[in-house]
This record gives sequence, C-alpha cells and structure tokens, in this order.
Amino acid sequence: MDWHNIQTALEGEPGFRLKQVKKALFVDLIDDWDKVTVLPKKLREELAISCPLDIPAQVFHSKDEATVKVLLTLSDGVQIESVLMRHSTGRNTVCVSTLVGCPMGCTFCATATMGLVRKLTSSEIIAQVLFFSRLLSKENERVGSIVFMGMGEPFLNYDVVMDTVRILNDPEMFSIGARHISISTCGILEGIQKLAEESLPVNLAISLHGSNDEVRKQLMPIARTYTLKELMTVIDGYIEKTHRKVMFEYLLVEGINDKDEHAIELAHLLKGKLCMVNLISYNETGKYTATTEQGVERFKKLLRKNGIEVSIRFRFGRDIEGACGQLATKSSK
Ligand code: SF4
Repeated sequence: MDWHNIQTALEGEPGFRLKQVKKALFVDLIDDWDKVTVLPKKLREELAISCPLDIPAQVFHSKDEATVKVLLTLSDGVQIESVLMRHSTGRNTVCVSTLVGCPMGCTFCATATMGLVRKLTSSEIIAQVLFFSRLLSKENERVGSIVFMGMGEPFLNYDVVMDTVRILNDPEMFSIGARHISISTCGILEGIQKLAEESLPVNLAISLHGSNDEVRKQLMPIARTYTLKELMTVIDGYIEKTHRKVMFEYLLVEGINDKDEHAIELAHLLKGKLCMVNLISYNETGKYTATTEQGVERFKKLLRKNGIEVSIRFRFGRDIEGACGQLATKSSK
C-alpha cells in the first residue's frame, strides 16, 4: 500500500475521487479496491493492479495482549518494526519507525547496530499506522495517539516526518489530534528549533538518559556533538516559543546513570522548566543491565522530592523483543 502511488494514479480523475478514496482507505479502512463501490469498476480494476492495498507483515502478540509488534516488509525487501501499545485506559498508541536502521549509534539501542540503511517515505510511515488501524477496527477501536519513537532518529528525516504528521492530523484521513502526536529526538538541535516554528502543536520528547555530559557520552554519541548546556538552551527557546511541556525520557541502566547523585543532578538540570521526566526500564539487549524495579522507584521518589514531575513508562511487550529494533535486527541477521 503506497499512498503516493495512489495519489499519482488518481491525477487524471475528477477532484472528488481523491476525497472518496481518502474516506475509503483511512476512514472506512477498506483493504480491497473491489469494495470501494463508489468508484467505477474499471478504475477499481486498474487500481487493484497498479496500487495494491496489502501491507505485508509478521505479527507478534505479547502474552498479556497489551502489545502487538509488527515486522513490516517494504517494497525493496527491507524490514521495519512498529508497535501497538494498548493502555489500560483504553487508549491505543502506535509507535512508528522513521528510518531503516539508525546512524546515531546509541550504545543501548538494537537499531543502532544496523547503521543507517535508508530513510522511510511518508507512505511507509503511514502504512504502519494503517496496519494497526485496520487491526483495531475489527474490535471497533481506533488508533488514538502516535509516538515517533521507533527505529531511527525522526529529525534525520524531518520533512517526511512533518508530511506524515499532516496526514495523520488530516480530518479526512486519520484525524489524530496534534496533541496526541509526539516526536522523540536524541537531541538534534536544528530539528528542535524547526519544530518550534511549526504550526501544528505536536509534543516534543527528548531522549536524555544522562544527567551530565560524561554519562550521556557513554550512552549517546550525539553528546559529543552537543553539550547538555547547548541542548538545554535550545529546549528553553522551544518552551518559550511554544509554551508546550517537554517530555524528557530517561532510560535507567544499572551502574551507569541510576545512582542517587544522578537523580539529584537531573533534578537540578531540569528545575524550573515546563517539563516532565518519563523513566524507562531498560529492555536488555545484551550490553547493559536494567536497573531493578526498586531502583527505578527510588530514582522516581528522589526526582519527585526535588520538585520534578515524573512517571514510569509501563514495560510493553518484553516477551516479544520489546526494545526498538530487536525484531528487525534479528530478522536481518
Ligand atoms: S536510540 Fe534512537 S537515535 Fe539512538 S540509535 Fe537508537 S534509534 Fe537511533
């Protein structure tokens, strides 16, 4: 299923056809051109040949059914992951990939071991959301929010990501509110500055994972390009411009960034900012050990005691290779 090919195929048709097709594919979630009966039979037959609607994927369900992970095979044979997280509140969140592999080299990340294979197109990103929309529609449910936190650094594919955001937000297509869309970056300053200028109020998340430059450098090579001071200055500018709360993601890794002094240092770093911290338990991929549950709780309490709003991210899909890139890297091997 390639949305750009479909648009190209409809170029010679009257304008209302595009509207009809958008409704059929993104609202009615039809996966067979023959069922789009508002279109003339001849056009349906042509589209069935030139623009197939299938989305080839292997599907993995966690035992508790809270997580569904898919390995999508793209037209050139490469594979990417996407995850559906079914929250107890009833909200369904899809975590999408933006690159095949990633060149950023974070040392805790399975995707990083692939390097950059290529960037995804917006059609390939929306196919990930469409796959889960179709799946959920069988239970009369829908995708409620999107996080750009899958394989790849989204700001390395900035224009495509923003095109995708507009498609997700389009009332004639997915109609997902900008407030329910979050983009997570490892800290590419130019991307944060550009996002501050966008008219759509999407959320910004920063993968921080360290309370000082030395710790951050151990986990994230980008810390050698930009210091925390530079990152915080740009984030202050973003908050001043948008008045939107920034989410700092902090992956807890035993012995590296989870000591009491790190929690206190982090609280000082973020004090007074319009922000919150989301603590993430590490899904072990071989190199590091995860902080214990008690350790995560202790870190949370210390942050809270020091005036920082904090939550702990529920661990989704540990039994189905929950960490980003684990399935795709296994598959490519
Ligand atoms: S954590 Fe994100 S930015 Fe870092 S290597 Fe993995 S995918 Fe890339």
